[in-house]
Amino acid sequence: MTTDPITKMVACNLCTGCGACAGAYPGLIRMVDDPVNGRRPVVAATPNGRAAARGAVALCAGADSDWTTLDRTDAIDADWGPVLAAWEGWAADTEIRHRGSSGGAVTALAAFALDSGLAGGVAHIAARADDPRLNEAVISRDRAGLLRGAGSRYAQASPAETLGRIAADDHPIAFIGKPCDVASTHKAMRGDKALADKIPLTIAIFCAGAPNLNATDRLLDRLGVPKDGTLVDLRYRGQGWPGLMQAEWLDGDGARHRSEGIPYAEGWGRILQAERRWRCRVCADHTGAFADISVGDPWHNPPEGNTNAGRSLIVARTPRGRAFVEAAIAAGVLLAQARGRDVIAAAQPNLKATHGAVWGRRIAMRAMGLAAPRDRGLALFAMWRGLSLRAKLQSVAGTWKRVIRERLWRPVVIEGAE
Ligand SMILES: Cc1cc2nc3c(=O)[nH]c(=O)nc-3n(C[C@H](O)[C@H](O)[C@H](O)COP(=O)(O)OP(=O)(O)OC[C@H]3O[C@@H](n4cnc5c(N)ncnc54)[C@H](O)[C@@H]3O)c2cc1C
Ligand code: SF4
Ligand code: SF4
Repeated sequence: MTTDPITKMVACNLCTGCGACAGAYPGLIRMVDDPVNGRRPVVAATPNGRAAARGAVALCAGADSDWTTLDRTDAIDADWGPVLAAWEGWAADTEIRHRGSSGGAVTALAAFALDSGLAGGVAHIAARADDPRLNEAVISRDRAGLLRGAGSRYAQASPAETLGRIAADDHPIAFIGKPCDVASTHKAMRGDKALADKIPLTIAIFCAGAPNLNATDRLLDRLGVPKDGTLVDLRYRGQGWPGLMQAEWLDGDGARHRSEGIPYAEGWGRILQAERRWRCRVCADHTGAFADISVGDPWHNPPEGNTNAGRSLIVARTPRGRAFVEAAIAAGVLLAQARGRDVIAAAQPNLKATHGAVWGRRIAMRAMGLAAPRDRGLALFAMWRGLSLRAKLQSVAGTWKRVIRERLWRPVVIEGAE
């Protein structure tokens, strides 16, 4: 029987895998790469472990987040979280732009945080050198370190695992993560002024959902990587926009091979997206409302081909985020032009409907006695009302079908849990 609140969070499909609980209580809570359920926390089965879990739940945004803490003024802010200003642009550094997922704006901003002295390090994720299917949370202190993370990894990753290291660091540390990673970090910062003072900037990448390790293995099968090969590189995005999915491996004689590159549309559309976790399907923040800056793809202005030079959509969420983007543009490290504040809806045309469907999915879950996340102050019901009748019914009936098909009432148990 589950007793601690973090294990319950995992069991009830509320955990996003951000890693904040493990980062705040290292040694008592650790993140485990479960191939089906994602990267999830395992709490030590001791009194100290359970006490850590009771403390950690205060900084977990998996079950609830509070949009009333956000400074929102009009209908655009109501839908997407605060949008102070928006730009479309790219890194002036051509290698960063090339390696980046869209236009390399995140890595360019992170490098500017180091070069301008705003931060002494940047917390982000990078592929693990010993197994590039997996990711690790790192703190980088120079351009080379940041380049390890350039390009989106459509896989389980827990950047908030750095929270303990950030608190212990001698320098201010900027933070990069998905919206859910930033939401927990924001919650931790609100509850701990010393931590808040250590994080001068948060950057969120837009996120439609993180696939699991099984999805990555299916991608490797599609790329023709032999089971007995040693994987040395796996790219999901980048090296042009949106980039090709491609792997490199060593054979038994140590010879290096490169797979064919498959387009993003095939890799995401036919392989990866089907393995997004259920928590992602009831996620109501795909664009990083709790960050200082959020960055995504300007899909309304689509790429020509797969590997041409990329562009990023950059959104300032807070006054300090806006000032930082403006300073990066003035310093010439970010080449960007202003866009209207309504640009997110144009760039991500399906997302508002997705947010509306989330209300129907959550109601359907609660009606079946299942736990569902809460986002205080976010008008999801109004978004649901804007859906067609068919989409409304689908959000509820589709959820019931999925709950039954995937037996979502069964508690999630993580491999390696004691
Ligand atoms: C799972 C996933 C889903 C996405 N869905 C969308 C979407 O629906 N719409 C959209 O517009 N954009 C989406 N993106 C974001 C998009 O792919 C780009 O990351 C974004 O445009 C920023 O590009 P960039 O070139 O400026 O960033 P880069 O300069 O390439 O930097 C990317 C940064 O993101 C970090 N990062 C990469 N993967 C992860 C991860 N799994 N978890 C946490 N941090 C990570 C890296 O450490 C790096 O710092 C998604 C990204 C991911 C990882
Ligand atoms: S803090 Fe993050 S990793 Fe820990 S239980 Fe909550 S959502 Fe999951
Ligand atoms: S869809 Fe939401 S919950 Fe899922 S990984 Fe992305 S931000 Fe996190």
